[in-house]
Amino acid sequence: MAVPRQYLSPPQVHKFGGSSVADADGFRRVAAIVTDLPATSCIVVSAVAGVTTRLVALAAAAASRQAWQGDLDDLRYQHRHLAQELLGSKSGDLHEFIDDRFAALARHLGALSVLGVATELATAPVHGAGELLSSRILHALLQKQGKDAAWLDARKIVVLETGDAGKTVNWDASRIGLDGWRHWAKILVAPGFVASDDTGRMVTLGRNGSDYSAAILARLLDAESLSLWGDTDGVQSADPSLVPDAVQIEQLSYDEAFELAY
Ligand code: ASP
Ligand code: MG
Repeated sequence: MAVPRQYLSPPQVHKFGGSSVADADGFRRVAAIVTDLPATSCIVVSAVAGVTTRLVALAAAAASRQAWQGDLDDLRYQHRHLAQELLGSKSGDLHEFIDDRFAALARHLGALSVLGVATELATAPVHGAGELLSSRILHALLQKQGKDAAWLDARKIVVLETGDAGKTVNWDASRIGLDGWRHWAKILVAPGFVASDDTGRMVTLGRNGSDYSAAILARLLDAESLSLWGDTDGVQSADPSLVPDAVQIEQLSYDEAFELAY
């Protein structure tokens, strides 16, 4: 596949999960890492830690006609607060974006509760909203810092199709989406987790799907490398959020790492 002509060298793809962007300091750390990268890069981000789980619960509550407005307000406040902390007086456009997203979410949740449906397709725009918000926040922060950054709408690029094996990437349609993207910048910030089906409706890649998003974008961009950043150093003996006395492993063979991942 041809590298987009604006690139002098293939880009790097870096993915940051929700715990890397859990708060304003997390966003600042990610922005600093991204700024230090030597090459053109595509930065894929997850929703702020915990947000997807809350959005999934909101969609389920709406579809079963339970209250959702209060939780939605909490989430809106959390994102507005982040924008304020990171951008201060320059957060006007971002506040507007956040308010628009939450107004759309409220309309969507209202529709789910009228219809009483919680199908995958009906809930995807709610489930995937966290990535749209977090990626916009990171993009706005980089722009405020004077960086050459653009926001890449992964929904317009990553196209999935459903076949016998479940959801798979429609590579030809995805490449067309990428061709249509003209606003290259040194740093492309993209939401993970979100995609479209082949009729253009928003879908998600399933829980924890941002790693997969990053891998798909890396292939589409003919990336030089793909890095999945974690918030712990190296490899631990277990998930430290589940096993408090997990330790960092000093040395590990590829076979052992493979076994652990499995
Ligand atoms: N935010 C999504 C989730 O929590 C996708 C991801 O973070 O990988 O499942
Ligand atoms: Mg993950």
